[in-house]
Amino acid sequence: MIDLRSDTVTRPDDRMREAAREAEVGDDVYREDPTVNELEKRAADVVGTEAALYVPTGTMGNQVAVRAHTERGQEVLSERESHVVKWELGGMAQLSGLQVRTIEGDDRGVVSPDKVRENYVAEDLHRPGTGLLTLENTHNSKGGAAIEAEDIAAAAEAAHDLGVPVHLDGARVFNAAAALGVEASEIVEPVDSVMFCLSKGLGAPVGSMVAGSEEFIERARRNRKLLGGGMRQAGIIAAPGLLALENRHRLSEDHENASRLAAGLDDIEGLSVLEPETNITLVDCSESDYTAAEFLDACEGEGVLGVAFGEYVVRFCTHWDVGEADIEEVISAVGRAL
Ligand SMILES: *Cc1c(COP(=O)(O)O)cnc(C)c1O
Repeated sequence: MIDLRSDTVTRPDDRMREAAREAEVGDDVYREDPTVNELEKRAADVVGTEAALYVPTGTMGNQVAVRAHTERGQEVLSERESHVVKWELGGMAQLSGLQVRTIEGDDRGVVSPDKVRENYVAEDLHRPGTGLLTLENTHNSKGGAAIEAEDIAAAAEAAHDLGVPVHLDGARVFNAAAALGVEASEIVEPVDSVMFCLSKGLGAPVGSMVAGSEEFIERARRNRKLLGGGMRQAGIIAAPGLLALENRHRLSEDHENASRLAAGLDDIEGLSVLEPETNITLVDCSESDYTAAEFLDACEGEGVLGVAFGEYVVRFCTHWDVGEADIEEVISAVGRAL
């Protein structure tokens, strides 16, 4: 079975397993786990912030960050199709008492400075006030669009001019950096905090990072504890995370594989595929006889897994555990499936 459902399905390699076995550990709630401390320092260096915090998941990372920036009852501006809005169980409302005002991004999920200004709400006797803007890069629902650093900066500047801080959901920010040919720190520079996942294309078995100023990270640390994320000898899982950070240099291989896949699938009658910007390939099967669900069933019968991303859209994600030869096999398997 070739599993292209997500870049989270990778298994830790021997080096990661060995690193976990050898990791020096301590109680991280007492800040005494040297491996976690090293990972937090290294992660902050990589994205160019003062500090960072290790969290079990990207979802928890986004939620502790959002909570650290806001006060109960405020509004948060988020792109309509973004992960924090669509896939986190309404966590901003459930956990932090926030009201989300969604902004329509463009077809790649880019939020314009005008939209930020239009949707901003000043606090008064009747209105809750805007407490935060969230952005996402790469934009998952928009097929892994790698949003240029200038576009992130423009939206962030509009928010900052209104006194509103900005959190970047950078679950795949290193994919964006690789695609744009810039350092991740350049994308992160204009925002106040970022979350990124070690457990996606970078191949760690678990874990994400939240990064920002020292003062922000202290608040995020309290929120992590509140949400039940204070971990003890977490160096066991942080050690593979340190290796994962270095894997950011190989993400362009996944992007090349996604391009190969897209070109191959686009040649199959009934399928239409746009050139992917990163490692996510969205396949439109509306011109075939299949719905997304039927198409996926047929693919599974031929040994390929993906996920539905709409009535007639399927997402295939390339990652560390699939090579060039697998891509050729996927293209012929999908051909047979149709
Ligand atoms: C995967 C993802 C998350 C959440 O990460 P988990 O570790 O699965 O909780 C957040 N934002 C985006 C854009 C993602 O793709």
